[in-house]
Order: sequence, then C-alpha cells, then structure tokens
Amino acid sequence: ALRDPAVFEAAARAFPPGAAWLELGAAPLSGVLAAGGLDNRWSALVDERGPVATGLVPVGDALTHTNPTLGQGISLALWAACRVARTAHQDPGSVRFAAAYHAWAVRTLKPWFDFQVVADAAIGERFATRAGRGDSARAVAALFECALEDPEVMRARARVRHLVEPPERAYADPRVRARVERWLAARPGYAPHAVGPDREEWERLVYDPDPATSPSTSARS
Ligand SMILES: Cc1cc2nc3c(=O)[nH]c(=O)nc-3n(C[C@H](O)[C@H](O)[C@H](O)COP(=O)(O)OP(=O)(O)OC[C@H]3O[C@@H](n4cnc5c(N)ncnc54)[C@H](O)[C@@H]3O)c2cc1C
Repeated sequence: ALRDPAVFEAAARAFPPGAAWLELGAAPLSGVLAAGGLDNRWSALVDERGPVATGLVPVGDALTHTNPTLGQGISLALWAACRVARTAHQDPGSVRFAAAYHAWAVRTLKPWFDFQVVADAAIGERFATRAGRGDSARAVAALFECALEDPEVMRARARVRHLVEPPERAYADPRVRARVERWLAARPGYAPHAVGPDREEWERLVYDPDPATSPSTSARS
C-alpha cells in the first residue's frame, strides 16, 4: 500500500520531520521506491573451531552490514580496510592471519554492530507498543534532548555517533550523567515525545486511507 504515492505521502505526513519537508512544497522526482538492505548482518569466516576459509579477507559490508539508520557502514568499512592495509604483509593467506583478523574485528567492529542491533530493537518495540515511558527509556530520551541544549552532553553523543567511544562508556561518564540528571530534575513532568502515529493510526493511514484527506496523486504522474 505504501507504494501508492497518496498513501506514502499521508504516512510521511504523520511523522513531524516528513510533515516539515512536505510543508515546504517538496515534490517527488519519481514514484515510490523501496530501500532495501536495511538489515544487520555479521558474516564471520570463523567458527568455534577456527577459520573456515583462509586467503579471503572480507571488509565493508562483506564483513558486517548494518542498518544505515546510524550511518556506520562506511566508517566500519574504512576501519577494516586500514587494518588490512597495516597488516597485509603478515602472511595474509595463513590461518593465523585469518584468526587474528577475526579477533580484531570482534573486538573493534562487533560492538558497533551490536549497538545497531540494540538500537533497532528498541525503535521497533517503541513503534509497535508505544512503550518507552519507564525510567530507563525516559533517561535515554532525556539524554538526546538534553544534548540539544548542553554542549558537554552533545560532545558525548558525537563521540558515539562518530564511533570514537562506545555508548556504554561515553554515556557513563559521571559528568555526562550528572548533567542529564540535572536536566531531568529541572523537568519533573518530562515524558519522551510519542513521535509519529500509533499503531491504530498507522493502520488507518496505510490500509484505510480517507480519500478526502489523502493528498492528490495527480501532480505526480
Ligand atoms: C540506503 C542506504 C543508506 C546508507 N547510508 C549510509 C550513511 O549515511 N553512512 C554510512 O556510513 N553508510 C551508509 N550506508 C552503508 C554504506 O553504503 C555501506 O556500508 C558501504 O557502501 C559498504 O561498502 P562496500 O564497499 O563494502 O560495499 P558496496 O558499497 O556495496 O560496494 C560493493 C560493490 O561491488 C559491486 N559488485 C557486487 N557484485 C559484484 C560482482 N559480482 N562483480 C563485480 N562487482 C560487484 C557492487 O555493484 C558495488 O559497487 C547506507 C546503505 C544503504 C543501503
């Protein structure tokens, strides 16, 4: 149903960023195209008994593909490419090389893959159930909103977004925690925004659009 331009636009309008773009008079350049490859995949050439192949050194998406919502893919690809360039003189066809490369990748890249998996699960759950009002969800949401006002917290956020420091370290910094706690204490009634439609509204938009309120498709053909 989302490939119908009218349905797609109505759905896009239900999310504040999409609505803001459409308010500016954005005009589509094509029909509705689906984006593929939004999964998370870790492709190890090593199992519990060691390397299953030698002489084949995967980098980029061949090693780990991550849903691009956090925009990590190119950084992870370049990180692995640098490692291969630095070590390629060390008998790259050997079992030892394959094992060492795998151990490096698990240590260095896998935490970022895991971060994406956890982030996706949280988003999916929030969208499906509207959960997210508990204390920890409130603290996580506060961190992002506080960062928009507090440069110290934004720096921690930037370190995570740019793969400099893992979230469990950057956000555990006592100074960052204290600032977020102060931000929350000043807003006792704070509840994370429920951004976008709830499940019922989504199903109505997608499966039972009201032709009277749906945007016309005539301008797009
Ligand atoms: C919609 C979307 C948005 C993204 N946004 C971001 C972002 O904002 N930031 C970010 O860091 N990452 C982003 N990524 C991820 C990023 O694009 C990938 O992680 C990155 O391109 C991986 O590089 P790669 O060289 O491993 O693979 P690719 O860039 O996919 O390159 C593989 C190449 O091999 C070619 N090929 C395939 N099979 C053959 C064959 N048999 N013979 C010859 N050539 C072949 C393909 O045509 C392709 O050109 C996004 C990905 C998607 C899908």
